Order: sequence, then structure tokens, then C-alpha cells
Amino acid sequence: MLEILRGIVQEASSAEDFQAALNIIVLRIRQAMRTEVASVYLIDHSINRYLLMATEGLNSTAVGKASLALSEGLVGQVGQREKPINIQNASTHPKYRYLKETGEERFHAFLGVPIIHQKRVLGVLVVQQTISRAFDQSEEAFLVTISAQLAAVIAHAQASGHIHPINHTANTKPVRLSGISGTVGIGVGQAVLCQTIIDLSSIPLRSIQQNLEQQIQRFKEAIWQVQRDINQLKNQVNDRLNAEEALLFDVYHRLLEDNALGGEVLNKIKQGFEAEGALAYIVHQHLRNFGLMDDPYLRERGVDIKDLGARILNKLLAKKPEKKRYPEQCILVGEEITTSHLIEIPKNRLSAVVSRQGSKNSHMAIVARSLGIPTVVGALDLPLPEIEGCELIVDGYQGEVIWGYSHKLKQHYLDLIRQEKNLMSDLESFRNKAAKTADGYPITLYVNTGLMADVSLSLDRGAEGVGLYRTEIPFMLQDRFPSETEQFNIYRKQLLAFAPKPVTMRTLDIGGDKALPYFPIEEENPFLGWRGIRVTLDHPEIFILQIRAMIKASAELNNLRILLPMISNVFEAEHALHLIHRAYEEVSEEGYTVQMPPVGVMIEIPAAVYQTTELAQRVDFLSVGTNDLTQYLLAVDRNNPRVADLYQSYHPAVLKALYDIIQQANQVGTPVSVCGEMAGDPLSVILLLAMGYQTLSMSASCLAKVKWAISQISMSKTKEILNNVLQLDNAEMVRSYLKMTLSHEGLGELLKFSNRALNT
Ligand code: PEP
Ligand code: MG
Repeated sequence: MLEILRGIVQEASSAEDFQAALNIIVLRIRQAMRTEVASVYLIDHSINRYLLMATEGLNSTAVGKASLALSEGLVGQVGQREKPINIQNASTHPKYRYLKETGEERFHAFLGVPIIHQKRVLGVLVVQQTISRAFDQSEEAFLVTISAQLAAVIAHAQASGHIHPINHTANTKPVRLSGISGTVGIGVGQAVLCQTIIDLSSIPLRSIQQNLEQQIQRFKEAIWQVQRDINQLKNQVNDRLNAEEALLFDVYHRLLEDNALGGEVLNKIKQGFEAEGALAYIVHQHLRNFGLMDDPYLRERGVDIKDLGARILNKLLAKKPEKKRYPEQCILVGEEITTSHLIEIPKNRLSAVVSRQGSKNSHMAIVARSLGIPTVVGALDLPLPEIEGCELIVDGYQGEVIWGYSHKLKQHYLDLIRQEKNLMSDLESFRNKAAKTADGYPITLYVNTGLMADVSLSLDRGAEGVGLYRTEIPFMLQDRFPSETEQFNIYRKQLLAFAPKPVTMRTLDIGGDKALPYFPIEEENPFLGWRGIRVTLDHPEIFILQIRAMIKASAELNNLRILLPMISNVFEAEHALHLIHRAYEEVSEEGYTVQMPPVGVMIEIPAAVYQTTELAQRVDFLSVGTNDLTQYLLAVDRNNPRVADLYQSYHPAVLKALYDIIQQANQVGTPVSVCGEMAGDPLSVILLLAMGYQTLSMSASCLAKVKWAISQISMSKTKEILNNVLQLDNAEMVRSYLKMTLSHEGLGELLKFSNRALNT
């Protein structure tokens, strides 16, 4: 059964277009379930009805015509109840509604299951039979399973189908797609597909009327170049391969010949298709066949075809006559976007970035953040490559991508961009002022850094120091662990740039979603696995080397503070402190004149919240990592778009934990700051101030806004707000309450620039 399921989903996902995908779905379901009818009804929002979109067994002329209101008939019932309906004799059911044009009166047995994607009913899958019988449990389970899997395929295909044409009328219903906010801010511009990733599945089969001969020549030229490359590669590695491995090259050559893959692609081109699309189509078909083979060896050979396809495609794309021209307002979109793609586009043309894959902590997202480019990652349903050329709105605050919108909506977002720009220029005057509340309470604002690019922006925006320097970022840029001297040079630059202001360097926090290419950690459950301090305590040689480099770099400056990530018990803190003291002794004995730096721990695991007192007694300072703390408290992966709406920084549990931490720390007298994303969100800052947090660390691009927000509100008001917030029992209520109160206080501006994770 599993194989059949997989086959149907695979076939549907690689269909030429949406309609073809639906046709495949109904055909295969009917075959697999041996029923007489299989149909798909989808909700058409323009008419607010279920429309018969594909069928095997009913009159095919009814497709696109037969429709039902949302509460009409058994189909409407399935959608409304959001659960299957399985009945022996449909026509006797009170909700049965006969659709003449379908010719369905002959069928008695009815099984309908809803197609639901991200809590939204998209449509209903139906199977029917003439005889009067109930479908058994395994049949029902099969259809439910297939519907759950196909929901994503249908949602994706539907989103693609909405792309063209974009008509900017007042009634246009925009398509809104959720991802995860990588960088806050808004961008409007034209989608440009990130081209260098050779993903054959993202190449469309485009038909062309003219210049077929030119396409054939382009393809032959590409083949010739790949043959030449393969020969070169063979010569280069000949002495390192055994005879069996060298045979691979012969296989490649044979595949390129006219009677194999090469010939098939040529035939497809001759049918009137562009070379790239024809190649992708043929390769895809082969991959599907290989994928269905039982023999694992043969299945593996599919990889060779894929590799070869990518090589040819590379040549074809490189040979494209027209050079890529970037529109003035360009939105880079792609499956996965690397830092090099990002920097390829002139900064003044890059309005935003959207990727289907990737996490907030990927190198690209970090760089985008430090450049202040609005970014959304994890936009799983982004229709690639069809979206290329479309005009998009990227809302980095909400983690949303929007298209097919009206002029009015576009204008709304353009206004927001303008207001933000104005706000930023108004904030210029705040740059050199100290941050304090309207009633004069001083607040210390630090920045989070990682790249050298962050440094100048931070200093420019008036940062009072670094609250979190993520040392894993420079490690990510290397192809091996950097040596002590290399690390020394990197750290020295940071410390020098900010001296005498403090720089808090966090020891290596790898694992989870932060991978070093040269130190892969593969685990079933990486966020609960070998991460942060757990890795470095297991590898004291890496830890000590890093601490030595940090301490040496602080010689004469003495502005270093060391921060330990992912502490879950006191032993880890003690063990790390012991190693730090050892490294300090060594460095001092080697003749460096340097003070022992203050050492702090991050409170980002629930266990640490409950042991804040014990930890605070052992270290010089604490720093709350709200990103991980929220993730672990709520058991919600911070990078998973499917559960993004559950990642709620205003969840009462998160707020209570934050309040508890500072109360414990204050009792011991250990300073505590916040360095997660909440510290950079104006709304959350109000609550943090009220709790008593006096030091906040955020990305440089948030500094001005936060400084402004602090200056707008008095400490007494924040406390009043917090008192009320702590009475509420859910994030939604907290958000609504904050919205209402701030608007009432004339602080509505603060709401616009708050991100969704914090807003929910
Ligand atoms: C955090 O978890 O809040 C934090 C600041 O660290 P990172 O985002 O690097 O995990
Ligand atoms: Mg963290």
C-alpha cells in the first residue's frame, strides 16, 4: 500500500500542470481502490462553491461545470464536518444532492474525505460504486492517507495556478503564503529565480514556436561540453579509481548517445519544447522509473541520471544568450538560497529574499539580517519556478509572501515601507542619545553580532557593546576548524572595534540547525541532541583552544565577557568554568597581561529557568536566549513553518518564565540580560522592561526602533501593562490587549513593526 501511495504522490507532484496532477490522482485512486468512480472537488473561492475538478467514472463533460454550495450535498457535509463520510446508499441520505450533469445516479456506495492543508479545507476526494456497500476501514484509511499527502501537492499546484495573470483589481483576492520571518521589513518587487541551483524539478516544460533548430544546437553543444568534461575528469582521477569505478564514465558516455537519454531529449525538443524543459522532463521520467524499481542497485543508478542531467543543464544555462538583468526592485526567490546568490545581486536592487527551504539560522539568513534585507524562509508552498517574474510583497514582519493583490493592498505596503523609512530617518537623532524610558529609567542596549559587517552598522547605530557574538558564524565560513591564531585574529578585530565597550563572546553553539560543513552532526532529533556546550565539553581541545584565543585577543583591552550556550545543569557550568580558568592560567603563564573575563551562562532551556538561582550563584552574569527558550518551553521547532503559528512569544508560559528568571537573578544579585529576538521587538520590550530587564541585546537593525519605543513609554505604564498581561491565559489575548492598550495610549506605531512570532 505504501508503495502505491508513494507512487501516486510522486506522479502527481511531477505532473506537467495542475489539471494533469488531478487527472493522475483520480485515475490512480480508482485503479488502486478498484472503484468505479474517483473524483476531486475543490473549493473555488471566486464562486464560493465546490467545483468538480477531475473525475474517473462520472461524465467527464461535467468537469469544471458541476458545482455545489459549501454546505450542499454529501461533498459539502464532508467539508463542513472535516471528516470522512462513508455510506452504503448515498441517494437515501437526507443531504444527498443529485447533480444531473455527472450521471452519478447509478452509484450507491459513497466515501468522501476532506482535503485539508494547514487547517484549511481545500476540497473533497470522493470514491463511488454501483453496489450498495460500506467501504471497509482499510479503504477509508487509504483514502484519508492519500488525501493528507495530496493536500500539500494540491495547495502547491493551486498556488502556482494563481500566478498568472495578476490582475490588480479592487476585488482581487491575494494569495498569501506563510513562511518564517528571517529578517523583519517589507519588500515589494519582481521575483527573480535563483538560478545557480541546478534543481531539475524546478525547470518548466516551455513550448516554443520558433527557433527549434537553435534549441537543438544548444543541446548538442551542451552534450559535447559535458562529454569533454567527463573525459577530463576521467583523466584527472584515473589513477585513483579502480577499473569498476572507472566504468561509470563509460555509462555516462553511453547515456549521452543518440539512442539513449540524449536522443530522447532531442526528440522532445523537436516536439516544440525549449531545451532545458525537454531535458528536465526526460530526466524526470527516467528518475520516476528508477524510483519504482525494486532492485536497490538499479534504483541507485537514478542518481547518475540526475547528476548527468544537472551537468547538461548547467551548460545550457551557462550558455543562455541573454545575460541575467536584475530588475530595479528584485526579490530573490528559490528552493535554497546561498550567500553567494544573495551577494551576486547589487544591494540597491535587492528588495527581499524568499526561500522554500532553509532556516532562520542558515548562513544566508544571517547575512541577509546583517544587511537588513527583508527575508522569509521556509515558504514551503512557494510555487517555483512559476513565480519568476511575478510581482510580490514580502512581509518579513509577518513571515508572509503575497501575490495576486490589488493596487490598494500594494499601496498599503508601500505606505508601510515609506513610514518605516521616515521613522528610521526620524530616529537619526536618537543615535547618540542614551536609551531611557519617558520617565528617565536608563536601559542598556547591546547588539548581536557574528559577521564583521555587523560591526560598523552597530557602531553607527550607537550600540553600547555586544551582548551576543555568535562565534559559530565565523566557524561556518571556514572549511575546517579555524586554528588558535586564526580565531585570535577574528576575535581581536571584534574586541578592538568595540573597546572599551564590552563584547560578550558566546562559545561555539553548533548542532541543532547550525551545522559546520566540516563537522557534520547527524541525529534523529538535533535540537535535543548534541548541541552547544554539550559538544564543546565533549571536545575540550576545541573548547580550550577557543577560550585561549578569546582571552589572548582581550589582552590590554579587557573588554571580553564569555557566554556559555545551552546550559541545562550546574555541572556543565562548573565544568566549563573549570576549563576557562585553566585556559586563563595557561595564557597568563605564557606572558599575556589580561584580566580574567566575566563568565555568564545562557538561560534558554526550561531546566535552567528553574535553576536560575543555582546558576546565578556560580557565574558573573546571565543572558536569556528567548529564541530557544520559547522553542523548548512550547515544544515548537523554531524553524518549522508548519508549526510557526504555535511559536508564541506572548504565550503566558514564556512570559512567566521570563519573569521568574529575573526575580531569581535579582535575589542573588547577578545581572541578567535578554539576547533573543524578543529583545529586538518593540512590543516585547515593553514587557521586558516592566519585568526589570535593564539590558537588551538585539540585531543592529532593531536598535533605533527599540530605543525609540523605550523613549515613548514610562516605566510606570509598562508595569501597569505587565500586571494586566500576567492575568491573561493565552497569547492571543495578550496580543489583543497590547494592541488595544498601545493604540489607546497613542503608541499604535509600535504595532506595525512587530514581527508575527512575537505578535501572536
Ligand atoms: C536564543 O536562543 O535566543 C539565542 C539568542 O541564541 P541562538 O538564536 O543563536 O540560538
Ligand atoms: Mg540559543
